[in-house]
Amino acid sequence: MSVRELVVLGTASQVPTRHRNHNGYLLLWDGRGILFDPGEGTQRQMIRSGVSASMITRICVTHFHGDHCLGLAGMIQRISLDGVPHEVPIHYPASGQVYFDRLRRASIFKDMSTLEPSPVDTPGPQHTDDTVELIAIRLSHTVESWGYRIQEPDGRRILPERLAELGIQGQDIGTLVRDGALQQGDRLIRLDEVSEPRPGQAVAIVMDTRPCRGAVELARGVDLLICESTYLDDARREAHERGHMTARDAAELAQEAGVRRLVLTHFSQRYPAAEQFLEEAARIHGDCVAARDGLRVDVPKRRRR
Ligand SMILES: [Zn+2]
Repeated sequence: MSVRELVVLGTASQVPTRHRNHNGYLLLWDGRGILFDPGEGTQRQMIRSGVSASMITRICVTHFHGDHCLGLAGMIQRISLDGVPHEVPIHYPASGQVYFDRLRRASIFKDMSTLEPSPVDTPGPQHTDDTVELIAIRLSHTVESWGYRIQEPDGRRILPERLAELGIQGQDIGTLVRDGALQQGDRLIRLDEVSEPRPGQAVAIVMDTRPCRGAVELARGVDLLICESTYLDDARREAHERGHMTARDAAELAQEAGVRRLVLTHFSQRYPAAEQFLEEAARIHGDCVAARDGLRVDVPKRRRR
């Protein structure tokens, strides 16, 4: 069965606190594991959440402030130590190449990893395969920052009752799906007669940024949005000056972009309780979650037309 789930590894902006680790988000998606913004302590948070380095198939870094990347050195060395056999592409702002290079070789280790550095300097698709596309779009922070979107292509859902009505079974189903049509006697049955459109699912991560068009573009219609929410509305001006968002901003973004489920995270240490963020956002958007370290959040089940 396919698993599409977010594992929250850390939720702290800038500095870890007693209850919040630096950032870290592992998106489990049908056997893939996309790790976003591994802050300091990510290795240990992964152990606590029961996920391993070998589950990571791709890493995305939004920007090179320490709370979003200091764990990269440790993760790379752990991928090497554990002998992770597959190649791991790493996406990061191209302008931060010097920081990537330092983290890549931060200390002595026997490097057995097969990494594929993939610097981002152009908005749009960074990777495309049969089942998923990774899109990056510029955000508006105090330094160059990119958000990411995982997009499944639209497909078609087979309707078993239609197959039964037409007496299609066994290998014929495979032929119909593969070829888009099936000759049955003197009748040609087209795939769209026995299926309906199945919109692709999508997840976006928006972090760190003040409200901007790029954030809306990334979040447009996603099933799950992981969004920074550093401050509350009482510090809105300060938030924007520092290149951040409030819980209200995040909820307004989710509302404007038609997001299904909003996950708030990246909380300033000045707010000990995440419930305040949830209260503020829930006034605007109906499906909000305030992240906490170790939380798992399902990507909402596929919408039926
Ligand atoms: Zn930052």
